[in-house]
Amino acid sequence: MPYQLPVLKYSYDALEPFIDTKTMETHHSKHHKTYVDRFNAAIAGKPELESRPGEWVLANIDKVPEDIRTAVRNNGGGAVNHSLYWDILAPKAGGEPKGAIGSAIKAAFGSFADFKTKFTDAATTQFGSGWAWLILTKQGKLEVIKTPNQDNPLSIGETPLLAIDVWEHAYYLKYQNRRPEYIEAFYNVINWHRVDELLLAAKSGQKGSCCDGSCVCS
Ligand code: MN
Repeated sequence: MPYQLPVLKYSYDALEPFIDTKTMETHHSKHHKTYVDRFNAAIAGKPELESRPGEWVLANIDKVPEDIRTAVRNNGGGAVNHSLYWDILAPKAGGEPKGAIGSAIKAAFGSFADFKTKFTDAATTQFGSGWAWLILTKQGKLEVIKTPNQDNPLSIGETPLLAIDVWEHAYYLKYQNRRPEYIEAFYNVINWHRVDELLLAAKSGQKGSCCDGSCVCS
């Protein structure tokens, strides 16, 4: 089963005015689709990779043959990263997280405001193209990190829970060079309910009960 471009749970115009329709359409139907197509092309004819979830492939990047490893890292990363990005966005969302993720953020960062400062700083200071993440570490701690290009935290053994794409293609049509405005707008469309589900899934995965690709498994 090749990696599938996910169908969005909302329309391209649903995140207006924070993320504009044209950016959403281009980002999903062109940029993301290209990563998916190139990822599938890279692993074509390798059933040991084709039969696995994309998340598993990234988490086991050292098992990927060297001649396709860079293509898998870049395009598999692009495929999986964007799937998470769409998944944690929603219209009429944002605000302060509740539930387990709300408590975990307070425990790890002191307050939601302190988390926001850290996450904004990571997203703002990622030099060039890349991503900022909220991750659950192997030790079960929440942390904010940033990665260049399409690198995914799964490849360093960490589980991503929230992602912001800071490649220019994610914001340039509406915000041009004003990346900080895009980052601030992003907080209005975070689906914290979904992030909460991902935290619970990741925690159960760390206990060894989950190997379906929604979490890291060894
Ligand atoms: Mn992107």
